[in-house]
Order: sequence, then structure tokens, then C-alpha cells
Amino acid sequence: MIRVAVSGAAGRMGQTVCGAVEGADDMELVARIDPVLGLGLDEALRTYGPEVLVDFTIPSTAVANIKAAVAAGVHTVVGTTGFQLDEIRGLSGANVLVAPNFAIGAVLLMEFAARAAKYMKSAEIIELHHQTKVDKPSGTAKRTALLMHQAAPDKPEPHIHSVRLPGLVAHEEVILGDVGQTLTIRHDSLDRESFMPGVLLAIRKIATLREPLTIGLEHLL
Ligand code: NAP
Repeated sequence: MIRVAVSGAAGRMGQTVCGAVEGADDMELVARIDPVLGLGLDEALRTYGPEVLVDFTIPSTAVANIKAAVAAGVHTVVGTTGFQLDEIRGLSGANVLVAPNFAIGAVLLMEFAARAAKYMKSAEIIELHHQTKVDKPSGTAKRTALLMHQAAPDKPEPHIHSVRLPGLVAHEEVILGDVGQTLTIRHDSLDRESFMPGVLLAIRKIATLREPLTIGLEHLL
């Protein structure tokens, strides 16, 4: 059994992750960390001895959580978006996996978009999320733009448009344009359950990663 703690456990993603961990045969949910629940990270690390921390909090908190967990030798799966990766480079003591999107469809969208960027003249990205999302543009859109630019460095990095509306969950559209044609690649997360297979996979595999910091779920697939 993998002993798992969830940080941001009272949040939208955190609650869904807690349910998924509880439903997994090979995992034990040992701590729900959240100010609302009255349990802090340091106390949870000390008292409940998790092997893996899953963080779905807010950008300002995530960096401190990652540093504290790694210093305690606890592998950390990070879903929180909106912080600078440079802030967590060079840590040692445990592995960190950061994935801006744990949905397999979004990982595929990024791969397809990077491939298409080589062949089409230019592209723009529209990311659409629920109106209470804290960061803008989304981490997935920023990573999509980066991967597309790395695949086609001679072209400008795609511009990102952000839409925030009630009713939305997490959606992204990449529109590529060329003479007389466009290509649209779109992914929709209609439910937070879409992220759970990726999160559970990350919990199972994080201890086996060779690098202390891994960015993107694709490295586990
Ligand atoms: P949310 O509902 O606002 O949940 C965040 C939770 O973190 C809140 O309960 C918040 O408590 C709590 N929190 C704040 N400070 C904390 C601390 N020091 N220790 C522990 N918990 C703390 O947000 P969400 O929609 O679940 O999203 C969370 C993050 O996941 C966002 O960055 C979002 O972009 C990201 N996300 C990632 C993916 C992915 O696949 N990677 C998918 C969806 C969302 P308070 O309310 O008291 O502040």
C-alpha cells in the first residue's frame, strides 16, 4: 500500500483526488491537508508519514509545500499550476512530478499540436475554464505553446487567449492556420474525474523516476 497525503484536500480537485485514492486497492489515504480541515503540511508529514504527497492547492502555497515534502523525503505529485518551475529546480531528497494536465486527452492534444506546429504557418491557443480558476493563462496552455515553439523554433510561440465562464471545467483549442486552411485540435475535460487515472498513475510511478524533477505526464505513459 502506498501511503498518500493530499494537500488542498478540501478543494475541487483535492476532494476528487481523495476519493480516487480511497478507491484504489494499492493506496491508503493517510492525510487530508487543507486550512479548512485544520491540518497543515508539517504536522501531516510528522504525524502520518506519507510516502507520496499530491498537491492541488494555489501557486503561492504549492512551492513551499513541494520544498517541505522533498526535504522530508516525500515524493510529490503536483497538479497546481501558475508557479514558476525555476522555483523548484535543484531540490533533492525525493522526486517531484509536475503535470499541468493529468488528462490523457490533453497530453495527446499537446503532442499532436507540437507535431502540427512544424507543418502549419502559425497557431493560436484558446483555453477555457470555470470562472474561479486562479491563474491565467492556464498551465496547460502555456506548456502547449512551449512544446509547439520547441517543435518549430522558427515560428513565433502561439498567442494564448483565456476565457473564464461558469459552466466550464477545463477546455483547450489549438487552431493552426495556413494558406486556405485551418486545423483545429480540441480537448474538453467535462468532469474532474478525467484527471484521476493520470494522478493515480503518477502516485504509483513517482518513486521509480530517474530524475528528481519531471515535467509532464507523458514521461510516465
Ligand atoms: P480550489 O478548489 O481553490 O482548491 C484549492 C485548495 O487548496 C483550497 O481548498 C484551498 O483552501 C487549499 N489551500 C490553500 N492553501 C493551502 C495550504 N497552505 N495547504 C493546503 N491546502 C491549501 O482549486 P482547484 O480547482 O481544486 O484547483 C487547484 C489547482 O489545481 C489549481 O492550480 C488548478 O489550476 C490546478 N488543476 C490542475 C489540473 C491538472 O491536471 N494538473 C487539473 C485541474 C486543476 P482555501 O480555500 O482555504 O484557500
